[in-house]
Amino acid sequence: MKLTVKPLKQKDAGRGLAAIDRVSMNELDLENGDYIVITGKGDGRAVARVWPGYPEDEGRGIVRIDGRLRQEADVGIDDTVTIEPADVKPAKSVTVALPQNLRIRGDIGPLVRDKLSGQAVTEGQTVPFSLSFGPMASSGQSVPLKIASTSPSGTVVITDSTSIEISETPAEQVSSSGGTSAEGVPNVTYEDIGGLDDELDQVREMIELPMRHPELFQQLGIEPPKGVLLHGPPGTGKTLMAKAVANEIDAHFETISGPEIMSKYYGESEEKLREVFEEAEENAPAIVFIDELDSIAAKREDAGGDVERRVVAQLLSLMDGLEERGRVTVIAATNRVDDIDPALRRGGRFDREIEIGVPDKDGRKEILQVHTRGMPLQEGIDLDRYAENTHGFVGADLESLTREGAMNALRRIRPDLDLESEEIDAEVLETLEVTEADFKEALKG
Ligand code: ADP
Repeated sequence: MKLTVKPLKQKDAGRGLAAIDRVSMNELDLENGDYIVITGKGDGRAVARVWPGYPEDEGRGIVRIDGRLRQEADVGIDDTVTIEPADVKPAKSVTVALPQNLRIRGDIGPLVRDKLSGQAVTEGQTVPFSLSFGPMASSGQSVPLKIASTSPSGTVVITDSTSIEISETPAEQVSSSGGTSAEGVPNVTYEDIGGLDDELDQVREMIELPMRHPELFQQLGIEPPKGVLLHGPPGTGKTLMAKAVANEIDAHFETISGPEIMSKYYGESEEKLREVFEEAEENAPAIVFIDELDSIAAKREDAGGDVERRVVAQLLSLMDGLEERGRVTVIAATNRVDDIDPALRRGGRFDREIEIGVPDKDGRKEILQVHTRGMPLQEGIDLDRYAENTHGFVGADLESLTREGAMNALRRIRPDLDLESEEIDAEVLETLEVTEADFKEALKG
């Protein structure tokens, strides 16, 4: 039986889960907690643990897995996959490699075991490990650990009695088993974005579909879209979304910062634009993300001098040239859509304009879930309350709120802690708990 891939809910990501509804589970003769192999059309293969499906998926033949598993299985949203029981053994010991710039004092083994407990891993695989603070981890984000070796070999499950060793070799030098992103592809997934399901669908339809299935467009005789314009207040997730789309389709990602191109590269702005588009073409499929488009392409009557006019003309011609060149798409973002040069908004350049608004209560809750996903939250903490009390907050504000909460937790247990220190104390990590009071304090601040 084949199931269709959909994203996992934000709160369940990062734990190697595959949410399958009851009907499909019965048909496949699966139970919660079973381990399965997920394969698509390609060579990819992901091992996951079966998890109860969401009520709205009942009977729809859906398997929900997160971005990491989609990447390992080499599948995208809406692809069909085959599910088979996985042959997994409990791990006696697993050696993990940490990223080079993550320095831990003491034994982090028990904490790693705790966080990865129940997950199936294979040598060479990269698994996310959540850290709520430290030089590499902003809140909710995770540090990539590499599985350097396992005993026994093959796919093993980490249990409470697995011994976790830390490899002397940093993760960067341990060879991968595939499934990891190529260089230049960001590692943001759809599960890292809260409250923008509809908007994400629209962006996917415009970008993912044509890039993954160009033949559909050829067959229909329509030109694939060249770009979308995301507009809305700062900090609402426009950049995040562009990165997630690039990652999901394994596309190379090039960024152009509007203000930077106009000031830092003053005098060479057009040249720089050309270079970025060239770089994108060489690495296609690729997405060119233009942040703060308004600072490049303000309405011409506002645009002061010749320079601005020439830069806009260059951008127009680069975008017009995209059709022959193939699989490069532009995503631009602005918070001042009315200031954009109408020439850029006319047909054929940005095929769609999508508004990314301030999140509502449900959106805020999802965003809070994203950013507290990896945190050792006190039992019973009620994120709903914080979603309710943060009217007007955008994603970036909610992220700072959770980060501030985690910082308060740290200060509480270690008032003398040097937050700038590169080294993290394993003991501190183990005792860390972010409480209601920490969040309250953060909200006040
Ligand atoms: P924009 O491009 O709209 O100005 P960004 O995408 O750069 O905003 O958002 C900045 C940061 O705020 C992100 O890196 C992320 O941590 C957080 N953030 C913003 N929007 C969201 C969202 N919808 N879901 C989760 N996190 C978000």
